[in-house]
Amino acid sequence: MFKKAAFLVIVILILLSNIVPVTAERSNDITLIINNKTIKSDTPPLIYKNRTMVPIRIVSETLGAEVFWHSSERQVEIKTHNRIIKLTIDKNEALINEKKVTLDVSAKIFNNRTMVPLRFVGEALGADVFWDGSTRTVKVVKKSQQIINVAYAKTPEGLDVLIDASGPVEYEQLFLQNPNRLILDFPSTKVALQVPVVNVGKNGVKQIRVGQFKVDPDITRVVIDLEKEMSYSIHTSENKKQVVVCFKNQMFGVDYSKEELGQSALIKTPFDTEYSVNELSEPDRIVIDLHDAEFNADSSNIEINDEILYRIRMAQFSVNPDVVRVVFDLKEKADYTVEPVEGEGLKVYFNKYKKLEEVRFKKFSNRTRLVFKTNDPVDFRVEREDKQLTVEIPQAVIKISQNVLPVDDGIVDNIELKQVEENGGIKVVAVIKLPYYYKHEIINTCPTEEVIVDIFKSPLSEELIVVDAGHGGDEPGAISPSGVKEKDLTLDIAKRLNELLLDGGAKTYMIRSTDITVPYQIRPNIANEMKADLFFSIHINAYYNDRIQGVETLYCSGSSGESKKIAKLVQETMVEELGMVDRGIWERENLVVLRETKMPAVLAEVGYLTHPEDEKKLLDPEFRQKAAEALYKGILKYYEQKD
Ligand SMILES: [Zn+2]
Repeated sequence: MFKKAAFLVIVILILLSNIVPVTAERSNDITLIINNKTIKSDTPPLIYKNRTMVPIRIVSETLGAEVFWHSSERQVEIKTHNRIIKLTIDKNEALINEKKVTLDVSAKIFNNRTMVPLRFVGEALGADVFWDGSTRTVKVVKKSQQIINVAYAKTPEGLDVLIDASGPVEYEQLFLQNPNRLILDFPSTKVALQVPVVNVGKNGVKQIRVGQFKVDPDITRVVIDLEKEMSYSIHTSENKKQVVVCFKNQMFGVDYSKEELGQSALIKTPFDTEYSVNELSEPDRIVIDLHDAEFNADSSNIEINDEILYRIRMAQFSVNPDVVRVVFDLKEKADYTVEPVEGEGLKVYFNKYKKLEEVRFKKFSNRTRLVFKTNDPVDFRVEREDKQLTVEIPQAVIKISQNVLPVDDGIVDNIELKQVEENGGIKVVAVIKLPYYYKHEIINTCPTEEVIVDIFKSPLSEELIVVDAGHGGDEPGAISPSGVKEKDLTLDIAKRLNELLLDGGAKTYMIRSTDITVPYQIRPNIANEMKADLFFSIHINAYYNDRIQGVETLYCSGSSGESKKIAKLVQETMVEELGMVDRGIWERENLVVLRETKMPAVLAEVGYLTHPEDEKKLLDPEFRQKAAEALYKGILKYYEQKD
């Protein structure tokens, strides 16, 4: 711009030279010093009406102003960043920023040169003008501004380097390589900083150095050291007191490395740039777009070819808006997470999905063993709900074509395999359907390549148990003082016990399942005809006063001692589980249901209806469930011991 302005001045001067006649008082011995430099000019300064007049070119060359000539108005326009001075030839009035001021000496044309009053123009441009009569010297000193602060700041788009001055400043820029650095020179400025070096270490900006590059004329040099060559833009604030160098968010490439559970890719972008992630298929790939970012990597393609990725591709996807795109070409659908890592970039973790490759099952005498085979060690979880077990394998995919595997061996019905999405990941859920549940055991611990679950055959599974709810229909049995009938409570407990026995794998028969009359003489016959393995009768006791309470179990010794064994175990579990008074086991030869049955038979008396505490318990359905469970446990214990 300066050169252009100077050229303009020369053109103007040539144009004027033939038009305007000039007379002037020449004074050869005036020394002109501007900013400590003695100015030599082919047209020396003149004294006119006691004012020093200088060629206008000196103004443009030494005080950093642009000069324009408007011939129609015969007007000289002197322009700086914040001031416009208009002088009209031979007119004692000037305009500073359109404001009128009176001059004691106007601009003149002498010897075909446009001459302007130095003091007026110098002061209007912010310089001090001194006259030393003894040496006939005019001294013009343009005041230097101070560079008072240098800092950097993160912006959504990247990083800004901020240079603050005490007043309006100009700059000249220069980019140098090896090492890469951006240089800003501020003429007419002095360094006024405590710390001349600002360490940045972010977004490719290493540091900012500030120094007094020259004195008289003063030049401050600001050097921004960069990791790599990168684009930037420079903005000046309206008052020219701040210069801002903006560096866009840089993307320096991708580091790919092995992690404990898979791989990771670090997209090197030093700030938490905004990003978006898209998962695409056919072929499987993950696309990550970094917004407001500039691609500044050495390569745009990284061949990987491991078990997860073919390659990583990256490029400046668009400019304005600036988007850098990174594409991960997947070998197959992979589990991944994207998370920003402070100061480093964006980290993409790839966890390869584990594969469920095989499900085997084998029956042993007392159990069925299920084996879930995976390609890599997995964590797993086994849960039971009623007659169903589930094996969950997180971050895994099914690599078996069959969804339902029929087992049907009496211990396991079938295994159903399901692929379930969960929290952005996927898991395998194997639902093991059982005809009954007795117990299971997990053989190995996490993590393992073989999830082994043993499911045990119930010791009840080959037993037929006749459940006899005492009384019924016309025979209410005992009646409590408040009117509660034994037949209703025994039926309820019998039904609950029957359910538990069935769920536990036994076959059952209920002498009655409703409120009907079944003569007690025929009850043993039913069991005998069915060739039942156990006859189990449920009653509630009564006494003529309310002083007796507790549980007892009756049996008839018969040919074998099995009934007594069962009675003992049932009595034990009732006492343990129900916290009732232990009235022990009793041998009773005269009870038809115990005497006439050809299989082991017991009769449990679950409390005394005539005792208020026992009655209160028996009226609670939760207690009756607990009672049924206690009876079940006693029976189960017997068969477990028998096996
Ligand atoms: Zn009874």
